[in-house]
Amino acid sequence: MKIYNSLTRKKEEFVPLEEGKVKMYACGITVSGEAHVGHGFQAILYDIFRKFLEKQGYEVTYARNYTDVDDKIIAKSKETGIPADKYAQMMIGEIDGVMRELDVDEPTVWLKATENIGNIISFIEDLIQKGHAYPAPNGDVYFDVDSYPAYGQLSGRDKEDMLDGVRVENDESKKNPYDFALWKAAKEGEIFWESPWGKGRPGWHIECSAMNRAAFGEQIDIHGGGRDLIFPHHENEIAQTEALTGKRFAKYWTHNGLIKVNGQKMSKSLGNSLLLKDLLAKYSNEAIKFALLSTGYRGDVNITDDLFPNAEGHLVRFYTLIEKAEETFPQEKGLYPEIDKKFDEAMSDDFNTALALSDLYGYFKDVSRFLAENDPTARRMTNQIRATYSLLGLFKRDAKAYLAKYAPKDEAPDEVKAVAEERWKARLAKDWAKSDELRERLKQLGYAVKDSKEGYTLSKI
Ligand SMILES: [Zn+2]
Repeated sequence: MKIYNSLTRKKEEFVPLEEGKVKMYACGITVSGEAHVGHGFQAILYDIFRKFLEKQGYEVTYARNYTDVDDKIIAKSKETGIPADKYAQMMIGEIDGVMRELDVDEPTVWLKATENIGNIISFIEDLIQKGHAYPAPNGDVYFDVDSYPAYGQLSGRDKEDMLDGVRVENDESKKNPYDFALWKAAKEGEIFWESPWGKGRPGWHIECSAMNRAAFGEQIDIHGGGRDLIFPHHENEIAQTEALTGKRFAKYWTHNGLIKVNGQKMSKSLGNSLLLKDLLAKYSNEAIKFALLSTGYRGDVNITDDLFPNAEGHLVRFYTLIEKAEETFPQEKGLYPEIDKKFDEAMSDDFNTALALSDLYGYFKDVSRFLAENDPTARRMTNQIRATYSLLGLFKRDAKAYLAKYAPKDEAPDEVKAVAEERWKARLAKDWAKSDELRERLKQLGYAVKDSKEGYTLSKI
């Protein structure tokens, strides 16, 4: 299979470091707030990467982290009065819950910065010993960018560009303004750990390098994250790890596109941040996945007002055909392997979910035709669609239950409702002749009526 490597800027044949095994790491969420759709998108993608690699026969170890100490979490802690560690734990609980609702599986290994302080400190000590880092008089420790000439290989930025992307802080304690903090001295009242450089906490970039070394050793196969992490975060991860080991850190660097809302960047400051829990209150997790995966993972996803409603509409139509096929051919257990073959072809080409999903329209057109011809191939196709596309988290539900929850309720026009009301009154008056006549009228208008003890329901014929 082929994977696009951001480091070489090419699609490359995937060959893991060790035959049959894949070590994959994706940068997770900084738990300073609730999970938004961008977090969901990235979590869904790497969950799918893992599952598809497993389908290809690889034994995958997938590690994902929570950044549970950083400036934003400390700021939130001050704002809310909840201690930083408690606040982070609380947010992790909420985010885990919402990811379960989104139907994202747990990674093989969960990593947390606060549970790896020892690993982080020893990584920094090793960098200092090798001359790639230096403690500053203020208690911070910095990475010495000049000591690592290959810096900039992933982002293609030179040192001049780098200055724009680096927040300039404690300038006087750094050798160069583009040096970045590995360890930050604690300010009064902030959460801290003891270290050889005094009380402090890790910088953000170092945690991924240190936790990777602890979980996997010196090298991994796939490293991933959002495209916004290329610089400085991933550039710095490469510098830290490769300066220390002299080996290529990750063989394949993968980066997913970003989320836009009506063409605009999604951000808290613009007030257009879409929280996952709000989306899940309105749409099925399958519709959210269908919508997000309809764009290839490297492209930006533009969320317009009708993106999720349209996705739900497609799924309702697909589930309607699945329900019909399952009711018409209840005993048919056969499959339709061609669908699985095409799916694997699409996904083997840099996880092309957009192509895999667009194939569904043709398949369901065929299902509909086979149903009209009373051909059990319809059911074989829907069996295969369920089996194959569950890897993307789709078609995992009971069709009836799905439709009951997400299919739009047909609202009858006023004219029809008036006739139905009249009929109900005739029925209550036991005027059966009139009731039957009005039932016939409704039929001509395209509606069936069903009576029950509580009243009646109208449905489109
Ligand atoms: Zn990272």
